[in-house]
Amino acid sequence: MSVSGVANVDRGIVLDEHNPYESMMSRFDRAAELLDLDPGLYKILRAPDKQLIVSIPVRLDNGELEVFTGYRVHHNIARGPAKGGIRFSPQVTLEEVKALAAWMTWKCAVVNIPFGGAKGGVVCDPITMSMRELELVTRRYTSEIMDLLGPETDVPAPDINTNEQVMAWIMDTYSMHARRTVSSIVTGKPVSLGGSLGRREATGRGCLFVINEALAHLGIPAAGTRVVVQGFGNVGGVAAQLLAQQGMRVVAVSDMYGAIYNSQGLDIDRLLQHVARTRAVGDFEGSEPIASDEILLTDCEVLVPAAVENQITSANAGSIRARIICEGANGPTTASADEILDRQGIFVIPDILANAGGVTVSYFEWVQNREGYYWSEERVNRRLKKIMVNSFRDVLRTSLTREVNMRTACYMVAVDRVAFIHRLRGIYA
Ligand code: NAD
Repeated sequence: MSVSGVANVDRGIVLDEHNPYESMMSRFDRAAELLDLDPGLYKILRAPDKQLIVSIPVRLDNGELEVFTGYRVHHNIARGPAKGGIRFSPQVTLEEVKALAAWMTWKCAVVNIPFGGAKGGVVCDPITMSMRELELVTRRYTSEIMDLLGPETDVPAPDINTNEQVMAWIMDTYSMHARRTVSSIVTGKPVSLGGSLGRREATGRGCLFVINEALAHLGIPAAGTRVVVQGFGNVGGVAAQLLAQQGMRVVAVSDMYGAIYNSQGLDIDRLLQHVARTRAVGDFEGSEPIASDEILLTDCEVLVPAAVENQITSANAGSIRARIICEGANGPTTASADEILDRQGIFVIPDILANAGGVTVSYFEWVQNREGYYWSEERVNRRLKKIMVNSFRDVLRTSLTREVNMRTACYMVAVDRVAFIHRLRGIYA
């Protein structure tokens, strides 16, 4: 039975291009229709399981009391504990967190790890906050969402503007309430607190593995391939470094402050040192500045958007000149832009596959915490490669056999896996 009559988003037409939840749902709708998904299951998978909004009162360094807003959303937990990062940013909204939570459900299903999807966020501006203020926000947020958290129920991780230190505070706060040390409550922790070797690099490394698969599929030699990276943080910085180490030419990168270019390829190891010193890519010796909005339009074979949502839209998709787009970020491309990229024959490795290396090694971290036995980095990377390569090939196979683009194929693989589990488990009433 078709679900098209149930959808409130017309196929391919998004009500608001910049609303990430609607972008995500229009892709889900398309996959559901192609899978002929049961209308009841469609309704279950379309709505988040739980949405929590919390107030976070914090005494600032200047003595004033500020109340921040925080969110934690569980999209679906049929396949296992809810898994998803926590984002600190002034731009965080409930709609964004809902989209990110659903993406986590699909992402865990695409790489076939036993987690459901969650996401959290706090509306705050970490750049203007002291370490003390950040710690207080983190701890109070953790205590406000405590009822959802647990190694078997909800396991947070880092996302934009949250890092190993924030994860350490979350682990400590949860552990103080539990009256024992619970390392498996978060992933992305410092290695000395039970973090996994290779976790910090995992998302960028995962991008490397799927880019190599895409290059091989399209018959493009890796050596000398020109790469452009938008966003030079955890994902973009590591991806650029690993791609450069493999002989590719990273010709342009950007961050939230600006963009730089060198047609011969930037020296990424030196650029990482420059960013560690100055906190920005600008003014890097051996590069020329370019306009930030030009970065995505730079001539290259591989474009890696690794910053934030809604960067490739109906307004600029037609001017993109890359052969391959590897979505390091979550939701960098709007649903309206998908069709334009298709028309240009651009091969897109969608976010829920391309950046799944992070959650895959988070899963490895959780497993290691629970077995109390820690793996070598070589073992982590080898297992990560196997999962990323196999997942890419599963999606490519679906794309070729069902004659759909990689985005739709990704959603079809993911939705089918989640729906299968729901059918097996049935509905508890
Ligand atoms: P980060 O905070 O480490 O880095 C973000 C980078 O993007 C910074 O260089 C920042 O300056 C830049 N940036 C922000 N806004 C920008 C803009 N408008 N234009 C250009 N650059 C901009 O964050 P991260 O962990 O690297 O995450 C980046 C993206 O990857 C996010 O969408 C995140 O959800 C996604 N992601 C991260 C992980 C992970 O393991 N860290 C895993 C999966 C997905």
